[in-house]
Amino acid sequence: MVQQNFQRIKEHIEKICARIGRDPREIKILGASKGQSVEKILEAFEAGLKIFGENYVQEAEKKIKELKDYPIEWHFIGRLQTNKVKKALKLFSVIESLDRLELAYEIQKQAEKLDKEVSVFIEINVAKEKTKAGIFPEDLKKFIEEVLKLNRIKIKGFMSLPPLYKKETEETRPYFRKIKELFESFKPILGENFTELSMGTSRDYEIAIEEGATLVRIGEALFGKRNYI
Ligand SMILES: *Cc1c(COP(=O)(O)O)cnc(C)c1O
Repeated sequence: MVQQNFQRIKEHIEKICARIGRDPREIKILGASKGQSVEKILEAFEAGLKIFGENYVQEAEKKIKELKDYPIEWHFIGRLQTNKVKKALKLFSVIESLDRLELAYEIQKQAEKLDKEVSVFIEINVAKEKTKAGIFPEDLKKFIEEVLKLNRIKIKGFMSLPPLYKKETEETRPYFRKIKELFESFKPILGENFTELSMGTSRDYEIAIEEGATLVRIGEALFGKRNYI
């Protein structure tokens, strides 16, 4: 089942790219595997998926340990509590959800202790939703200037989860467009390693790709319904 889903999504992405003149190799797929079993993750891996994202450190730790022999790139995509940073840095190769300075300072501190560099994406709260994490567009410049002072943190991209409209996904388009504009506007400051624009989920990845996503995070369309939320 997962294998067919992955194949279908890949073909869909190829079609979208052909229509809009993008190279499908520019688009990475991340399997958002929260609430999904190790068996399903493995099935997706065998089908060719190499990047997975998890939202909870404790849940991820178990899975990552079980799958330690597989060359999977694990991204953290949930809200990261500062007391879980140390563990997260050992488990994940990218933290996609840098959403506050307090977290940046803790990442810097733990990265120094572990003597490593940490790749992060900055999470953008494009519609300034109260229920969501992320930096508001107007605060982004100051936030980035502060994070750039932290030498262990490498800003590789932006991540966003814009409002999801149940009936009409088209309504999300202006938000994706705004995130892409922000992404382009910060390229000169953030340099050549700032390349990833992580946006689009099961419901709206087509629009996200049309608007410039380089990485889409797909959960239920790939794995089926998850065990919670
Ligand atoms: C769960 C999750 C996704 C995937 O959502 P689906 O609707 O299952 O595709 C993407 N991004 C984040 C941050 C998530 O938490």
